[in-house]
Amino acid sequence: MRVAIAGAGLAGLACAKYLVDAGHTPIILERRDVLGGLVAAWKDEDGDWYETGLHVFFGAYPNMLQLFKELGIEDRLQWKEHTLIFNQPEKPGTYSRFDVPDIPAPINVIVSILRNNDMLTWEQKIRFAVGLLPAIVRGQQYVEKMDKYSLLEWLEKQGVDERVNSDIFVAASKALTFIDPDEVSATVPLTALNRFLQERYGSKVAFLDGSPTERLCQPMVDYITERGGEVHLNSPLKEILLNEDNSVRGFLMRGLNGAEDETITADIYVSAMSVDPLKVMMPQPWKEIEFFQKLEGLEGVPVINIHLWFDRKMTDIDQLLFSRSSLLSVYADMSNTCKEYADPNKSMLELVLAPAEKWISKSEDEILDATMSELTKLFPKHFSGDDRAKLLKYKVVKTPRSVYKATPGCQACRPDQKTPIPNFYLAGSYTMQKYLGSMEGAVLSGKLAAEAITKDYPPKTKTKSAYDSKAIAIKS
Ligand SMILES: Cc1cc2nc3c(=O)[nH]c(=O)nc-3n(C[C@H](O)[C@H](O)[C@H](O)COP(=O)(O)OP(=O)(O)OC[C@H]3O[C@@H](n4cnc5c(N)ncnc54)[C@H](O)[C@@H]3O)c2cc1C
Repeated sequence: MRVAIAGAGLAGLACAKYLVDAGHTPIILERRDVLGGLVAAWKDEDGDWYETGLHVFFGAYPNMLQLFKELGIEDRLQWKEHTLIFNQPEKPGTYSRFDVPDIPAPINVIVSILRNNDMLTWEQKIRFAVGLLPAIVRGQQYVEKMDKYSLLEWLEKQGVDERVNSDIFVAASKALTFIDPDEVSATVPLTALNRFLQERYGSKVAFLDGSPTERLCQPMVDYITERGGEVHLNSPLKEILLNEDNSVRGFLMRGLNGAEDETITADIYVSAMSVDPLKVMMPQPWKEIEFFQKLEGLEGVPVINIHLWFDRKMTDIDQLLFSRSSLLSVYADMSNTCKEYADPNKSMLELVLAPAEKWISKSEDEILDATMSELTKLFPKHFSGDDRAKLLKYKVVKTPRSVYKATPGCQACRPDQKTPIPNFYLAGSYTMQKYLGSMEGAVLSGKLAAEAITKDYPPKTKTKSAYDSKAIAIKS
């Protein structure tokens, strides 16, 4: 079957990958001139990479890890020590570690919490553990039900100390969803915690050895095109055209640089766009259908990714760091964590600014000033005295609408990959799957969409694309 897919983020690429595996012919149509959507990256004038987001992979990402294996690129994941490292705002420039011993889960995570005495007292640890008990014992069903509460409400209900919230959950919530615990649904961090507690290496972190666009998306494109699929950049979907019975008749593609609009036809159609553009181009008759109406409850959340190149080494820590700053979320010195960005003498800090609601419309200068002032707390020794670290250059990447904003009640709005329209499917990390708005969620959603298509339309023989004339060769 010929399957037209709008969007070359991880969900669209994964969907196409699993469709070619099943014997279908996917044609990916991506609006931008770069692969990857929220994992897209670019090279600056000096040849240095900058990214939409600082991305880490977790041990508890089974579908992503399987995909790396299937693509034969497992060696590109650079696994770090099994530890979570938090800055200590009350002691600037110092860190508190949760070192996870190499023993079975969940004991390993519990031991790491019990051993950490910088952040929590024994009483707080015990109340924390007791509070978490229902989530651990009653599992994911309980966790899903907690979607009616914000994380803060849930912690209060469980009698967990406010200090646990400010010390751990603010950092976790910002890192996972780019919003604070008073806004985030309790289901999100509890889901992540459950995964980490169930798998021995679940909370172990890996960085990719280079840019996601080149090192992860490109091999997916190669895999798809070598097996008869197609990937077209600069191909924005303008309108979903319908038949009289409301099934999809075609994708109307916007002509660029004065070219005419063009209709692409296929047997099956997939939206792997994020939820915001899908809502904008929802055909009028579909707006009457409850399945699509629920999407109104989903919306992308703003986030900002900042890159700072310094004239010296700021730290030798080769790991993701939780800043515990109200401005910033996680950060990493990419000159240590990522092989292709490595530099023994200079640092490139990549930092996520979240929540970014108030910052997204501010100028780059304002964002930079605020970030630099936070850095004086994170790296006091480099910003005091005569020999201060010099900023060589910076890049700010703003994403006004990124992953769906995971507020209470959102779980019920997340759609299945199979829609009520017989020839139209959805992929995207916002669709229903158990891994939240993450790379793992995106890959799983694409796989589930491909599985649903293959179940509904078992493949016959491959067809040739009518879009060949405009094919853009994407080679590694
Ligand atoms: C700053 C930041 C940090 C993150 N950190 C992590 C992390 O550490 N770990 C993790 O697991 N996840 C992380 N994520 C989340 C992760 O990046 C996303 O969940 C995932 O990449 C989403 O993939 P997707 O394919 O569902 O959507 P998207 O990546 O949004 O892809 C949608 C695609 O559709 C395209 N499109 C839109 N409109 C059209 C149109 N009209 N026609 C054709 N194409 C169109 C877009 O250009 C895009 O390429 C982070 C995200 C950000 C922003």
